[in-house]
Amino acid sequence: PRLANQIAAGEVVERPASVVKEIVENAIDAGGRRIEIELESGGTRLIRVRDDGCGIGETDLPLALSRHATSKIASLDDLEDVASLGFRGEALASISAVSRLELISNAADDPSGGWRVVAEGREMAPRVTPAPHPRGTSVLVRDLFFNTPARRKFLRTEKTEFGHVEEAFRRLALSRFDITWLLRHNQKVVHQLPAAADDQRGHERRIAALLGKRFIDESLHLDIEASGLRLWGWVGLPTHSRAQADQQYFFVNGRVVRDRLVAHAIRQAYRDVLFHGRHPVFVLYLELDPRVVDVNVHPTKHEVRFRDGRLVHDFLFSSLHRALAEVRPNHQGA
Ligand code: ADP
Ligand code: MG
Repeated sequence: PRLANQIAAGEVVERPASVVKEIVENAIDAGGRRIEIELESGGTRLIRVRDDGCGIGETDLPLALSRHATSKIASLDDLEDVASLGFRGEALASISAVSRLELISNAADDPSGGWRVVAEGREMAPRVTPAPHPRGTSVLVRDLFFNTPARRKFLRTEKTEFGHVEEAFRRLALSRFDITWLLRHNQKVVHQLPAAADDQRGHERRIAALLGKRFIDESLHLDIEASGLRLWGWVGLPTHSRAQADQQYFFVNGRVVRDRLVAHAIRQAYRDVLFHGRHPVFVLYLELDPRVVDVNVHPTKHEVRFRDGRLVHDFLFSSLHRALAEVRPNHQGA
């Protein structure tokens, strides 16, 4: 089982950033409203995520580390409208197979309550010991890949690994404006984001904090709804510099997505209205009935499958086209 676990671990655990993503998604699923992430050495020495969510009770704590133990699907029917970020029940098991993992949690309001389990590279006799913790959960991942030297070799410099973590953090913080976020690296606060007001100004403040004020200053805000689809967010105007070319964030029902159909629709609209050769920059949110989209095609690749791809493509294209054409009124296109 040890080998199987380590092989499977490769699927979700590629580098510190993927560990952060999985653990933070759990914290979000648990209803955390304040999530603190702390890293040492780009996350290779330590990743610590603390949330104030529902917590895990004493008896469930060792289960959380076992493969295919998920609390998120009660029945097969739930699969249809699973709204939570993950449901595979193997992230923690996979991470614990390739690191020294510690889970401290408290599902009750008594702050002197709380329990801890430790797992080390799968050499686990999950012993549960009392450990005070406020309501919520702390996950500590130390020495990632300590027992898999081949994998460890693929880790890059501390700076590069932290860069990937920060990018994962941006996506997460852009997906939940209502959560208070803290990101610390080597004892320094990198991002401190209070929960944002649920309005355009609140959202823009957070985006400016994450992507720079220029992003907002040189973007167009849009919010368009048609045939059960809603597209809202910000698209960059042609003043955006090349340096910002990688600022492309697209969320489907709150989940970050990289999708060819989506990319194509955006590129087409851009190309049609704006200058050629411009890289679109955007933070966009597509909302639609969860039953017509499958976001769990692959555990880590950010793929989606729309039931009616044509409809989504045309909606994205026409919404963006309309919005962009408004700010370039001399454009003669469709
Ligand atoms: P999945 O998220 O796919 O269910 P994981 O391996 O990521 O699988 O987590 C296993 C289980 O551990 C979850 O289903 C959940 O019950 C519990 N869990 C993990 N992290 C947290 C957390 N931060 N707060 C509460 N429960 C958690
Ligand atoms: Mg999970």
